[in-house]
Amino acid sequence: MATPTHGSALMQYCPACGHCAFRANSPKSFLCSRCGFILYMNAAAAVAALIESNGDLLLTVRAHNPSAGMLDLPGGFVDHQETIEAALVRELREELGVDIVAAMMGDRSTSPHSLSPHSTSPRSSSSLSQTNTSTHKYTTLTSCYVGSYPNTYHYRGITYETVDMFYQIVLPHKPDLQADDDVSDLIWVPKQEIPFDDIAFSSARDILQQCYSSSTDAR
Ligand SMILES: [Zn+2]
Repeated sequence: MATPTHGSALMQYCPACGHCAFRANSPKSFLCSRCGFILYMNAAAAVAALIESNGDLLLTVRAHNPSAGMLDLPGGFVDHQETIEAALVRELREELGVDIVAAMMGDRSTSPHSLSPHSTSPRSSSSLSQTNTSTHKYTTLTSCYVGSYPNTYHYRGITYETVDMFYQIVLPHKPDLQADDDVSDLIWVPKQEIPFDDIAFSSARDILQQCYSSSTDAR
């Protein structure tokens, strides 16, 4: 049995013994019938943000494939040994050039490049630049978790099954942002005018429709 999820065209030999008797034996695993080795292909974790300010929602324009030029939410894949919250803070810093927790607190000068690990300011977000999860960051971001949807992500001939988690973040002011990394442009759109058909991935479309479609928007 071969499914696109396994990237079967590439996975032809057992990683343990090198034999070619290596086959997909379920939608999420390979089995080597020679040595018994099993390789599991679990869903990859990803996280993104619904960033709102003054009635608008922030959308990104994808710089690269898959779906280059289409709209997306800021965010990305979770690294190994990283928390969901830390991944979101990192991705927003990489794609938007913003310290999102400082922005949530109303700071207008939210450039992550201005953060000093030795700052003594009580409102400083210097701890956010550290790899360990601070209590401040954890409590701030977990309070706005919305939910998750599965997604299928095609990248360079391989299909990845993902689970995408979403946080809603309401900012008191629109911070200075700079598109970078996987993002070519940033767009603020009124929450009532979200172009659902131009959203690149089904998971983002699903959460946006859950939160902002006219039939379900309770805000
Ligand atoms: Zn083997």
